[in-house]
Amino acid sequence: MTRLLAAAVAAVSLLALAGCAENPATGQPMFNMLSPDQERQLGAREHESVLEAFGGAYADPALQDYVDAVGQRLARHGEGEGIAYTFTVLDSPVVNAMALPGGYVYVTRGLLALADSEAELASVLGHEIGHVVARHAGQRVSQSLVAGLGLAILGAAVDTPELVDVAGFGAQAYLQSYSRGQEHEADDLGIRYMVQAGYDPQASAALLRKLHAQARLEARLAGRDPDSVDAFNIMATHPRALERVQRVAQAAAPGTAGQVERGAYLGVVDGLVYGARPEDGLVRGRSFVHPVLRFRFEVPEGFDIVNSDEAVYAGDGSGNVVAFDGARWRGTDMAAYLQGVWATGARLQEVERITVNGLPAATGTTRVQLESGARDARLVAIGYGEGQVYRFIFLTRPDMTEALALPLRRTTYSFEPLDAEAAGRVRPYRLRVHTVQAGETAAALAARFPHGDGHELERFRVLNGLAAGEEPAPGRRVKLVVE
Ligand code: ZN
Repeated sequence: MTRLLAAAVAAVSLLALAGCAENPATGQPMFNMLSPDQERQLGAREHESVLEAFGGAYADPALQDYVDAVGQRLARHGEGEGIAYTFTVLDSPVVNAMALPGGYVYVTRGLLALADSEAELASVLGHEIGHVVARHAGQRVSQSLVAGLGLAILGAAVDTPELVDVAGFGAQAYLQSYSRGQEHEADDLGIRYMVQAGYDPQASAALLRKLHAQARLEARLAGRDPDSVDAFNIMATHPRALERVQRVAQAAAPGTAGQVERGAYLGVVDGLVYGARPEDGLVRGRSFVHPVLRFRFEVPEGFDIVNSDEAVYAGDGSGNVVAFDGARWRGTDMAAYLQGVWATGARLQEVERITVNGLPAATGTTRVQLESGARDARLVAIGYGEGQVYRFIFLTRPDMTEALALPLRRTTYSFEPLDAEAAGRVRPYRLRVHTVQAGETAAALAARFPHGDGHELERFRVLNGLAAGEEPAPGRRVKLVVE
């Protein structure tokens, strides 16, 4: 009785504090916990974490100005009275867009590469403005997105989230997304702003289709079933993509004319950095190269490398995994580091000091228990750079440990410093706009992509919004990825 009373009192005072207003965009009553000033303060605080989590602002003032101009043109039609909008292109290859309370709207360069026209960009920005105006934006947007991504990558590499604990990477395993109703509301508002600003609203459906194709491609690249994307995908804040495509295509009344601005847009994104940045390390075939930290290493044949924020993973799809990261330590005896700092909880065996390409190193083994079964674990610590240690964990199925011993030892000894010249030769991939010549096929154009993983044709099609089997028309401008 007393507890119930206390709860009721708490609820009443909460309601009094919150007040109840009508949302100017949706006409729905809403409980808003924060004043516009408080929202702005919250957004300003979270803004820094978003920048940090997504590689900072992309260093191209002309591109930033262009995106801001499109965003401001749409925001003039938003109902959020007095919201000062800030539009930022994030230097991240991840395909995403997001908004914080107080008018902070973000789009990644990964999403810009996928979009094909100013109208498609406008559809993304309009949708995010819709979230802001309808006040959907929750806290911790940035962290939850990052955590979700890390989890997806990890799952793909090892097929079990237990590696998180084993390796001590500690990714947060929860996702926070807007509800389906809120996504629909943001879509509807976005389309309204597009129409009012003079853009062709059909671009919304076109971009959503491309996002869906991209999610399927990402799943395939990670060795997962493409159909799984509709249950859990990289665009976790944009679920049920196909349903949204249909709704949006209907809402954007076919026949509504408007600006598309394809040529202008392609001119702006020509030369955009595509994929990972050198400062985050680059995957090049079976090699991982870090031109800024100045090292490289190679994984065995059959292992696919995935570079995440926390670590580099490589898996062979059979439950054997290489995990690699860096740590700070000021000592010089790598055996002391291995036993006394890194793996204090594990009973390491066969600990020995080794030398890897002239660098002090140590290795030891142990056995770990994962949900999917036992694994032999070999740990390797390599001292390289001032106060810096690089660490490998090789997890192998006990029945495969012997067969993989030599290939994985080669991975350890492939770790080598890069000199300035070699580091200077490592460049990021870039988007290049190309006019299709007569006789040029999708396969021929895809062959120019540098990935070398056999998925070039699908990458080309997804990037250019082409259906399977569809050929680009001569004279059409398409996007290529080049080194
Ligand atoms: Zn959304």
